Amino acid sequence: MDSIDKLAEVFKEFPGIGARQARRFVYFLMSRNGDYSATLARQILELKKDISQCTDCFRFFVNKNSNSKVCEICNDVNADDSILMVLEKDSDLESVKKSRVYDGKYFLLGGLVSIVEKNTPSYVRINELKNKISNNKSIKEIILAFSLSPQGDHTDHYVRGEIKDLVEKSGIKVSSLGRGLSTGTELEYSDNETLKNALKNRQ
Ligand SMILES: [Zn+2]
Repeated sequence: MDSIDKLAEVFKEFPGIGARQARRFVYFLMSRNGDYSATLARQILELKKDISQCTDCFRFFVNKNSNSKVCEICNDVNADDSILMVLEKDSDLESVKKSRVYDGKYFLLGGLVSIVEKNTPSYVRINELKNKISNNKSIKEIILAFSLSPQGDHTDHYVRGEIKDLVEKSGIKVSSLGRGLSTGTELEYSDNETLKNALKNRQ
């Protein structure tokens, strides 16, 4: 493998990027002057340095106060800690946060559960979610907010099954983000109005 192939392999790992696009990225980099690649490489390293993963909700956040383990949302005393929204990934959380239609707390599951795979992938934080529910007595409602795709539905079903005993014991209501989102819609691309409706119509 030459260096073009090697870098293309790296880009191929990006969400939604295929082999052909990955190579286009590499050729694009080669066509730019050396400063561009140097800046890019530096920015990537900077990112790693300034970013921490919250130990409470598992989102990545810019750690201004580098010894903080918990992000600013989890630390926010004005956020409603009786509602917990469970999402797949950072970009979904980011769009809900930006929409300002929700002021509760969040939890990132880390991925969806595949219909075809027998074992739950290790990046799915189901045990962490259970721990959070057990240790957090203020939670009254859990909103499952996965994308409206077969895999999202499957994950919704899976999480409900896994936390069933726990929520029944604590009298926590579990709802799913309403059908205001049309089928196949990715949460991260939803506009404010759609999110607002989806939240209002949760069931
Ligand atoms: Zn957090």
